[in-house]
Amino acid sequence: MRLDQEITHFVHTNYPRLGVNKSAQIIRLLYEITKRDRVDFRTLLPDIKSEEASLPDFKTIKAALIQRRFPTQDRKTITNRMRFKKLQIDPEEKADTIQPFAFSPQTLVIEDAAQNTPLAVKVIAQFPYAKIKNIPRWKDYVQKNPFSVRTYNQRRQTLFLIKEEFDYVQACPCSRGSVRCGYYNLKLGTGCPYECTYCFLQAYTNTPGICLPVNIEDFFACWENSREGQRLGSGQFTDSLALDEFTGYSALIVDFFRQHPESFFEFKTKSANISLLLKTAPAANILVSWSVNPQAIIDTQEFYTASLEARLNAAARCANHGYSVGFHFDPIILFPGWESAYQAVVRAIFDRVPKASIRWISLGCLRMTWTQKQVIESRFPESDLLNGELLLDYDEKLRYPREVRKSVYAAMLHWIRNHSPKTRVYLCMEEAPLFAALGLEPTAF
Ligand code: SF4
Repeated sequence: MRLDQEITHFVHTNYPRLGVNKSAQIIRLLYEITKRDRVDFRTLLPDIKSEEASLPDFKTIKAALIQRRFPTQDRKTITNRMRFKKLQIDPEEKADTIQPFAFSPQTLVIEDAAQNTPLAVKVIAQFPYAKIKNIPRWKDYVQKNPFSVRTYNQRRQTLFLIKEEFDYVQACPCSRGSVRCGYYNLKLGTGCPYECTYCFLQAYTNTPGICLPVNIEDFFACWENSREGQRLGSGQFTDSLALDEFTGYSALIVDFFRQHPESFFEFKTKSANISLLLKTAPAANILVSWSVNPQAIIDTQEFYTASLEARLNAAARCANHGYSVGFHFDPIILFPGWESAYQAVVRAIFDRVPKASIRWISLGCLRMTWTQKQVIESRFPESDLLNGELLLDYDEKLRYPREVRKSVYAAMLHWIRNHSPKTRVYLCMEEAPLFAALGLEPTAF
C-alpha cells in the first residue's frame, strides 16, 4: 500500500468519528511529516490514541502535528496562514523522469491557418515519421478535448502549430502585491519539454501538447505599432531556447531587436542551446539569461535541463560573442547545506563570466499555489521539494516565511556584492518592504 493510502486507512480506522475535513487535515499533516522526517507515522500519535481512541481530541492532535510540521513558526502565524487541502495523490499522474530525454513528437497537429507556413513546412521535414492531423481552430480543439494532468505527462508526444491571433505580447502578471519589474512576455510557445518539479505550467496549461506559433512576423508588426514594453522576453510559458533548433526564432528576434536599441529582449533558459545565437551577429540589447541552481537541485528538481556547468559555459560563450547575460536564482530552494551550495554557484558565475557582461541577477524563493502543490504531490511523489515550511503569504501563494526569505536574500546579496558591488540585483515577485529592507531599488527597467 502507498504511504498516503496507509495513512488514510490508519486515520479512518483509529479515528472513525472525525469528520471529513478534520480527517483530511490529520492525514495531510501525518503524510508531510512522515515524508520529510522518514519516521513511522504511527509513532507520531501514540499518547493521543491510547487515551481516547474513539473520541480523539482533534485540537490536541492537530496542534502537536502542526508543531512538528512547522517547528520554526508560532501557532498563531500558522493558524492565520495555513489552509489544509486534501491529499489526493493519483499514481496514474506520476511523471516519468526515468526515460532519456527525446523531443520527437508522434503527432503534429496543425491549425488550418498555420498550414504551409515556413515553420510548418520546416517542422514537418524535421519529424518525417510524425502523424499529421489538421484542425480548423486550435482554441475550439482545446475546448472540445479534455485536458488533465495525465495528458500533461504526454505533452512531448504532440506538437501543435498554430497561428497566434491575440496573445503575442502580455505584461507579466507578476504576483498580486509584488513589485513589478516591467517585464513583457512574448509568447514563443506554450508548454515545455523539460520537467521541473516546481513548474507552474503543470497546473496552468490546458493544451494536450506543446504549442508553437508559426507567425512571429505578426508579433514584429504588432510591436512596431504599439512599442509596448521596453523590457521584453520569452520564457514564461516555455523555455526560450529549448526548441530553438526546430523553430529558429532566436536569430529572427535578435535581428529584429537590433533595430530597436531602446528596448531589451531577454531569452530565459535552462538549456545550452545557443548554437543559433552564436551564428547570429550579436546586439547589445539582447540578453541571454539562465535560471541557475546548485547541481544537486538540478539533478533532483530540473529533469532534462542542462547541467550548471553547461549553463555557465553557454553564458560565457554568449558573453564572449557580444551578448549581455543575466542570471536568475529562481526558484531558490532550501535544503540542508543550501548556503554553501548557493554561494558556490555565485562564485562559479563570477569565475566564468565577465562581470561587465552581466546585466542583472534576480532572486526569488520557491512559491506556488495550492493547486500547484497538489499537482506536484501526484506527479513527483518522491520529491523533497515540498519539505520546507511553506505557508500562505500575501499573494495567496505558499512561500517560505518572510523572515526566512529575507535572510536568504540578504545572504545571496552579500555573496554577489563580494564579487561585484555594482551588478543590478532585484527580487522577483516580492513585496516592496522586502526590497527596502535589503536596500534594493524597486525600479522598473
Ligand atoms: S524550464 Fe521553465 S518552463 Fe520548462 S519545465 Fe522548467 S520551469 Fe517549466
